[in-house]
Amino acid sequence: MHAIVLNAPGALEDGRLGATELPDPVPGPGQVVIEVAACGVCRSNLHMIEGDWVGYGVPAFTPIVPGHEVVGRIAELGTGVDWLQVGERVGVQPLWSTCGHCAHCLTGRDQLCPSKQITGETVHGGYASHMLATAAHVHRIPDGLGDVEAAPLFCPGITAYNALSKLSLRPGSTLAVFGVGGVGHMVLQFGVLTGADVYAVARSRDHLALADELGAHPVDASSGDPVRALAADGGVDAAVVFAPSDEALQQAVASIKPGGTVVFGVHARVGVLPFAEEKRVVGSVIGSRQQMHEVLALAAAGKVRAHCETFALDDAAGALGRLKRGQVRARAVLVA
Ligand SMILES: [Zn+2]
Ligand SMILES: [Zn+2]
Repeated sequence: MHAIVLNAPGALEDGRLGATELPDPVPGPGQVVIEVAACGVCRSNLHMIEGDWVGYGVPAFTPIVPGHEVVGRIAELGTGVDWLQVGERVGVQPLWSTCGHCAHCLTGRDQLCPSKQITGETVHGGYASHMLATAAHVHRIPDGLGDVEAAPLFCPGITAYNALSKLSLRPGSTLAVFGVGGVGHMVLQFGVLTGADVYAVARSRDHLALADELGAHPVDASSGDPVRALAADGGVDAAVVFAPSDEALQQAVASIKPGGTVVFGVHARVGVLPFAEEKRVVGSVIGSRQQMHEVLALAAAGKVRAHCETFALDDAAGALGRLKRGQVRARAVLVA
């Protein structure tokens, strides 16, 4: 199979990714092979490629095929997989497999399973013509949802949805979203769906314009202190942070009202958290299989949409370079 592999972590500009031919995957019991049609390009991929996450054991090995927002067609079934068919359109999220029997798996919180395998980080991912997947962790793509627009639902979509599920937003609530990128632009849409007033804190003109298009109030962090801007309206009930920055997380904590909640999904320092304000700061990582089904249903019903720009698979480094330079408006997607 054709694949883009990370040979050794380091600066993207140093040619860390290379196109190569790998042996075709062979499905074991309970597995399937997917012919990949589209794979989203995630900031997590960039972190792994550049060696930011070596201390977390990511990548687990090299050379590795990155990519964890994968859509394609089933090309081959392993033994015991009798609920899927060759040719069916499916997608895979970062959760490649889980043990299925720990306390987290048994309570629908698959993403907390200590034995989980992560697509493109501990097993080969979707920057390839084919990918091996766990049949119990693939999701059928509803008709009417294109391959490209479906791919980012498998990371930004599910990640945004799980983050918002930790908040009890209702019409009239106020929400500030720090970072309007792949995940952020989905958080804005799910936030608007709740009827909340949504503020989008971003620096680039493109991101501020996208936030406006999606029904949020843009807050330009490049031309002033976003905390002051949000405080002028009395502070917000809740904030969500997917901008990978200590400053953004600390601004979010400062922006919420006493008793408010910040949900964050990046490696960042919270800073001082005054107990007397009873603020809550909650981590959030990807989401469960059930939530994945809910996200696909909402997208198929036209209630949310991933905004995409496409790149050829062999131009993965080009797409990642644009992401690194802040030139991707919402989500870059590699296509076969
Ligand atoms: Zn991702
Ligand atoms: Zn488990």
